[in-house]
Amino acid sequence: MNEMTDSTTPKNKLQGKVAIVTGGASGIGEATARHFATHGARAIVIADVQDEMGQSVAASISLNICSYVHCDVSDEEQVRTLVDSTVNKYGCLDIMFSNAGIGRATNTREQSVFDIDLSAYDKLMAVNARGMVACVKHAVKAMVEGHVRGSIICTTSMAASIGTDRFVDYAMSKHAVLGLVRSASLQVGSYGIRVNCVSPGVVGTPLLKDTMRLDNDEKIGKMQELSSYLKGGLLMPKNVADAVVFLASEDSQFVTGHNLVVDAGFKPKV
Ligand code: NAD
Repeated sequence: MNEMTDSTTPKNKLQGKVAIVTGGASGIGEATARHFATHGARAIVIADVQDEMGQSVAASISLNICSYVHCDVSDEEQVRTLVDSTVNKYGCLDIMFSNAGIGRATNTREQSVFDIDLSAYDKLMAVNARGMVACVKHAVKAMVEGHVRGSIICTTSMAASIGTDRFVDYAMSKHAVLGLVRSASLQVGSYGIRVNCVSPGVVGTPLLKDTMRLDNDEKIGKMQELSSYLKGGLLMPKNVADAVVFLASEDSQFVTGHNLVVDAGFKPKV
């Protein structure tokens, strides 16, 4: 089924575009950077904190169009430098895929409302909420100054629609992203800039493995199967990347303030 999607999708939806992908060293961000290249993007800047992985993804896509920049999205100065250096090098910014995120602050246990660790909460919010707003703020500024009718896409989660029974901080951070996208889209629509988000369901990435403490691929597959109500395989990073390409491209030119859910029909336990 995925092969069918790949072979039937025209590959020129992002011809000549300049894009930033945060969290592009792994998982959904990596798959999206690859899709952006396939769809004709002129330049893709991968921003992450895992330098070796980011550099190797950029090289495997092509150093002619893809580069890697170290950027911790929770640090506004690093985000400002990321956006400014992209505009200085390539002349503009057309697409910001603000996707970097963490499932839990390092080594914290599950976060229940009964005993949530608030310092871990602060660390998680710094990346998942503060980092998103920094990326949207600086992307908007660059697009307005450059007279670019750009597209900004943020990664939230199905947790933003249904909550989670294990990680209240993560669910809160992803609800914050919805609020950011809905408000920003109203504030920048008059400049022709669109702001949307994508809500993945259960995707087998390092983040899922680490957050759920799944130590092998079989357990990941089982969890994905249990959360999929759609026959046809497990939800992969590239399936989310397809939705991001849609939101980045002219195919969605009248879509803004929207939350595009890509979750294989997941429903919570009743
Ligand atoms: P991943 O771990 O494969 O990728 C996340 C990337 O973000 C990593 O490369 C990591 O180094 C980077 N990152 C983390 N902190 C950062 C920081 N401070 N600055 C810059 N980069 C940073 O995980 P993924 O599943 O591909 O996650 C991508 C996004 O998708 C996240 O926002 C996550 O919350 C969201 N999401 C994932 C799932 C899932 O099931 N995997 C479901 C819903 C939402």
